[in-house]
Amino acid sequence: SADIAMSMAKKSGKNFIQFYTYEMQLEILKRLQIENGLLYSVKNNELYMVYQPMYHCETKALRGFEALARWKYPGIGFVGPSQFIPIAEETGIIVDIGKWIIHEVLTKFMELQRRYQFSTIVSINISVVQMIDSSFVSMIKDVIKETGFDSKYLELEITESVLISYPEQIIDIIKQLRALGIRVALDDFGTGYASLSYLQMLPINVLKIDKSFIDKINIEDSMNQIVEHIINLAHRLGIEVVAEGVEKEEQLNFLLQHGCDYIQGHLLSAPLEDELIINQFLSLQNN
Ligand code: C2E
Ligand code: MG
Ligand code: MG
Ligand code: MG
Repeated sequence: SADIAMSMAKKSGKNFIQFYTYEMQLEILKRLQIENGLLYSVKNNELYMVYQPMYHCETKALRGFEALARWKYPGIGFVGPSQFIPIAEETGIIVDIGKWIIHEVLTKFMELQRRYQFSTIVSINISVVQMIDSSFVSMIKDVIKETGFDSKYLELEITESVLISYPEQIIDIIKQLRALGIRVALDDFGTGYASLSYLQMLPINVLKIDKSFIDKINIEDSMNQIVEHIINLAHRLGIEVVAEGVEKEEQLNFLLQHGCDYIQGHLLSAPLEDELIINQFLSLQNN
């Protein structure tokens, strides 16, 4: 890409050369900094998890939480997962980070469940790179054993892109996870290419409709029909549906009317830090 930059720059004159290459250098530097920082993020305790509740669409009862990674990089500040996860995937460090995440989440939820005598689903995002690592399933098994977490409350979220690259291998891994009693969710549904035709081949429990679809409810007519269709198809295949990124009451009403099972989004709750999940557990215990 440096070559492309140079040839583009030559066409556009000298000032542009300096400007463009300087910007690129900054980009490269920032990326190297993130790559390097990620290598030490686990060891230096810079990663932590926040938890976003998912609710039953009709009753608003808590379904469980999705664990979302956060990174506070000293000297740089907060780096969001949409930025650091793809870099962690490219460099392979996601395998170590991912293992830390699973251990952290199961330890935390085991502790909460013991303390408050209440169990709920916890959902963890898994990257393709992490999933096709040869020790993935045995690592999960080990962490479950070590923490004592009941696997029926563990849900793993994978994205459609996983299926395009390694369809057979992934289906096999999903089957192994299901055999351990773990739930599997297909995340960001609708953003990939796999889509509807793949659904019947996949031994998944849950489908999460991507926020980009939910955003267009009642804005694009065709989107209402598409969302309705996805819900119906999933139900016919025995798959539960979660709508992601619900921000508006009218989206919730539409989803409710069309039989969506669960919702997640800022309308009901943003991701929560530690003390706030404890409150959720406390209120459930008192019910
Ligand atoms: P995702 O798994 O689809 O997670 C949903 C994202 O949408 C989260 O962003 C969440 O904070 C955000 N969100 C939820 N409700 C709303 C809403 O109503 N409005 C808006 N605008 N946003 C909402 P976040 O935490 O920044 O994570 C972004 C992505 O990074 C995740 O998308 C997931 O793909 C990835 N990610 C996050 N944590 C992890 C992790 O522990 N492991 C892996 N492999 N990926 C992760
Ligand atoms: Mg997710
Ligand atoms: Mg998602
Ligand atoms: Mg998403």
